[in-house]
Amino acid sequence: MEKPQRKRSLGIIVRRSDWRESSRIVTLCTRDFGVISTLAKGAHRPKSPFLGAIDLLHIVDAKLGIHPLRNLQRLYSADVIQGNRPFRHHRKRREFALRLKNNILLAMPENRSDPDLFDLFRGGLRLLGSAPEPKLKLTNLGLDLRYLEILGVLPPPNFCPLCEKELPKNGKVGFLPKAGGFIHKHEGGRPISARLPHFAKDLLTIPGQNLPGFRAPDPMVQDLSTLVQELISNL
Ligand SMILES: [Zn+2]
Repeated sequence: MEKPQRKRSLGIIVRRSDWRESSRIVTLCTRDFGVISTLAKGAHRPKSPFLGAIDLLHIVDAKLGIHPLRNLQRLYSADVIQGNRPFRHHRKRREFALRLKNNILLAMPENRSDPDLFDLFRGGLRLLGSAPEPKLKLTNLGLDLRYLEILGVLPPPNFCPLCEKELPKNGKVGFLPKAGGFIHKHEGGRPISARLPHFAKDLLTIPGQNLPGFRAPDPMVQDLSTLVQELISNL
């Protein structure tokens, strides 16, 4: 029988369950191998090297045994690089983090890596764990926009995908999810403020780490968040 290859990857723990008496099945979203199921043998034993390391949304440096023909890989060790502490006692942070996790898992194929999605997941957890509370919604909005962009379903928000011309900055534009988002008012859709697509473009243009520091009026954040949720639920 062929031996598994020893590999190492950054990973985020997205699911875990008990297996037999002392072991656990750990689902990891990894940077290099995509989403994989792994067996952590002896994880429940008192002196296990996994003690405290196998917890939801921990970011770990994982030592793995990868066998290309098997569905269950081996997890030899997991060193926590960034813990889930910010999400344990803060309901709002946890909700945003779990939503990000669900979005990533919906889009990431099993056993196939997608470094862009992984980096969004990892960077997103860092931001959602550290952003000041009043900036969580704005941060989450910026992450959702990047998610749609990485999936290739979001045309540049300040350009109309129907006629490819730039959208006006004042007045109204149309919102039409099946066209990818924002279009000219006379082309249809639901009328919304013309400032929203330009706001979306600004949020996509700044470096992700600057999202919590971006200044925007709450009602605009709320309005754009509602539209972006609609785009995501239409996927
Ligand atoms: Zn147009």
